[in-house]
Amino acid sequence: MKAVVFNEHGGVDKLRYEDIEDAPGPGSHEVKIRVRGCGVNHLDIWVREGMRGLDIPMPHILGSEVTGEIVEAGKSALGFKVGQRVMVTPGISCRRCRHCLSGNDSQCEEFQIVGYQTQGGYAEFITVSATNVLSISDAWSLEEWAAVPLVFLTAWHMLLKRGGLKPGEDVLIHAAGSGIGSAAVQIAKLCGARVITTVGSREKIEKAKKLGADDVINYREQDFSEAVKKLTGGKGVELVFEHIGQETWEKSLRSLAKGGRMAICGVTGGPTGTVDIPFLFLRQLSIHGSYMGGRNELLDAIRLIEQGKLRPVVDTVFPLKDAALAQKKMAERKFFGKLVLRP
Ligand code: ZN
Repeated sequence: MKAVVFNEHGGVDKLRYEDIEDAPGPGSHEVKIRVRGCGVNHLDIWVREGMRGLDIPMPHILGSEVTGEIVEAGKSALGFKVGQRVMVTPGISCRRCRHCLSGNDSQCEEFQIVGYQTQGGYAEFITVSATNVLSISDAWSLEEWAAVPLVFLTAWHMLLKRGGLKPGEDVLIHAAGSGIGSAAVQIAKLCGARVITTVGSREKIEKAKKLGADDVINYREQDFSEAVKKLTGGKGVELVFEHIGQETWEKSLRSLAKGGRMAICGVTGGPTGTVDIPFLFLRQLSIHGSYMGGRNELLDAIRLIEQGKLRPVVDTVFPLKDAALAQKKMAERKFFGKLVLRP
């Protein structure tokens, strides 16, 4: 089969579009899927570059957001049939421990992400456990559905479960144009919050408003923390949705109202930050780390996507062979929503 693989960590030039051995199986509890869409994530870039402590077999196939059609189901993979439209749920966990059984899959000791610790969807075929497969409707195309699993799950878990967002609250969501930002703006608006978001160019302001943002700050023209203060009458926001890290960290904390919460799930703008400790306790702020989420939360998000109350936002669909171009575009932040590969 055709796939995009890398044999060693490094820049986008390490990605190779090649003929490799076909995806295996399926084993009795697995299904084999013909990939029709695969979302591109910052995670892909970090895995390709080689994060600290990362030890994966080579060659590696990236890709955590996979949709397609079943081509073969194992003997014990009951309820699946050839041709069925499916989405791969990106989280792999033991399904037996107390974390899994309480819907906190991503706290499982055995937790892994498809395409990160295992082979992913930058390929014509993928074989996964049947427990990681969800049937999806034709409400959206398979390419659009590929813009859903990782970002909607991560944004949902972070806003609602970790961040505890409530109707009527003010929330600051960084980067409406990012995959996760475009999901978060919609979820927060649907939840009844007042959504303040940031973008890095004028063209993105209208797009952010169309998604449901109440106020949009161009962070290249304005100090976002001062703009937030002005928009909230000096109070600040109850929740900051952080996924940038170093570049925004201190100003994000300064944007919080007394008693405010900050949830963080990523560091696309650098991995370190400092905390003014007295500022933290005098204002009774809290910081919540957030990582992916539970399968039950993905199902909740999917229901609203089926109903059209939330929608996948696809910027560009690239042929699989252009995966390196897609990753380059992502690193340059020149997109709005999701970049999707089509094998
Ligand atoms: Zn578990």
